[in-house]
Amino acid sequence: MKHIIVVGGGAAGMMAAIWAARNGNKVTIYEKNDRLGRKLFITGKGRCNLTNACDVNELFEKVCTNDKFMYSSFYGFSNDMTIAFFEELGLKTKVERGQRVFPASDKSSDVISVLSKELKRLGVKVVLETAVKGLYIENEQAKGVYLAGTPEEPVRSDSVIVTTGGYSYQATGSTGDGYRFAKESGHKVIKISPSLVPLETVEDYPNIMMGLSLKNVRFTICANQKEIYSEVGEMLFTHYGVSGPLVLTGSTKLIPYLSQTPITLKIDMKPALSYEQLDQRILRDFENKKNKHIKNALDKLLPQKMIPVMIEYTKIDPEKPINAITKAERECLLKACKEFTLTFRKLRDYNEAIVTKGGVSVKDIDPGTMESKRIKNLYFAGEVLDLDAVTGGFNLQIAWSTGWVAGVNQ
Ligand SMILES: Cc1cc2nc3c(=O)[nH]c(=O)nc-3n(C[C@H](O)[C@H](O)[C@H](O)COP(=O)(O)OP(=O)(O)OC[C@H]3O[C@@H](n4cnc5c(N)ncnc54)[C@H](O)[C@@H]3O)c2cc1C
Repeated sequence: MKHIIVVGGGAAGMMAAIWAARNGNKVTIYEKNDRLGRKLFITGKGRCNLTNACDVNELFEKVCTNDKFMYSSFYGFSNDMTIAFFEELGLKTKVERGQRVFPASDKSSDVISVLSKELKRLGVKVVLETAVKGLYIENEQAKGVYLAGTPEEPVRSDSVIVTTGGYSYQATGSTGDGYRFAKESGHKVIKISPSLVPLETVEDYPNIMMGLSLKNVRFTICANQKEIYSEVGEMLFTHYGVSGPLVLTGSTKLIPYLSQTPITLKIDMKPALSYEQLDQRILRDFENKKNKHIKNALDKLLPQKMIPVMIEYTKIDPEKPINAITKAERECLLKACKEFTLTFRKLRDYNEAIVTKGGVSVKDIDPGTMESKRIKNLYFAGEVLDLDAVTGGFNLQIAWSTGWVAGVNQ
């Protein structure tokens, strides 16, 4: 019987441990927190969007970095298999808008609970409040780990699976230790960056509209005048800038262009209408409000919180009666509705990033086993790898699939 050490008891680690144990191995998980799956607990706003029920081929489109590396993992342990796996463990699931899969109970704690029970049933030893501080490597082979706060004697094993996660939401335990382990053992680590992260803007307008959530708007990002992202959906203004699903997804496309300036964020408030159609609509609105001041005449066109901002943005006198608005001013308002433009300042911090872009280079990893090509018996799975996807359950699917591959190859 082989002894397998799994470093990190998150999504990928628990999955790897379960499948390594199902293969008849003796498995130990070292987790630095006082419980398993702390990040898993906060996923999907506490509901855990554990995968996506799309066609398996669509999974690849949702992976932002190194989608081809995921070929064996996604086909080996697909989203359908994830659902079946959890249902077999007794977790009822449901599918929501956008094919997002959640536990029927809406409780992420139930996901952790079924995984923990299965680990227990399989006899996996879970060692909590115990951080791994380094890998024990001899003759280019992983032979165990060094634990923090213990003498320099390593804990020996036949192989080591590193599933320490990324660098975001560090309070959950993912503090980037795996990147250090990888570097120390000669692996390339691709520069990391927060991803699926809100954006700060130069202008103060978002602060004035803080809390305003927009539905069915088009959000476009341009780097140096070139459009790099444009989608319709939901977004949100915050005290520092913009957030919400459209913005988080947009952030992943923006990262490669961070060095380019200017980066502008454009919001089309009425994507279903052409400029001409919207102009007609504004004219009709104005027709009925001829004697009103402009500041009191836009309530059908724009959300209340946005009206003072739009008036300031267009530099129209708020006290001006509609019948005195010039054609140029109306065109300016029209343009503001179709292309309300903010200037990107920076990404928010790792503490607000759903995932970390970058990580252990997949060129150093065998995609069919998750074993390092540099160090024998050393495996990596989950977010520690240079893999990331958009929202919708895809990042957890990466963790389950790569964790499964690492586990079944023990
Ligand atoms: C707020 C938020 C919401 C999210 N919602 C979703 C969602 O709904 N759907 C989705 O698909 N994705 C979601 N994600 C992303 C998803 O949670 C991660 O991609 C996923 O958890 C990565 O799994 P992992 O096992 O690789 O890493 P983690 O889940 O981060 O697990 C790593 C574990 O390793 C432990 N560890 C680290 N270093 C050491 C060490 N030296 N010794 C011992 N233990 C160590 C950590 O304590 C941690 O428990 C969300 C992320 C955040 C932050």
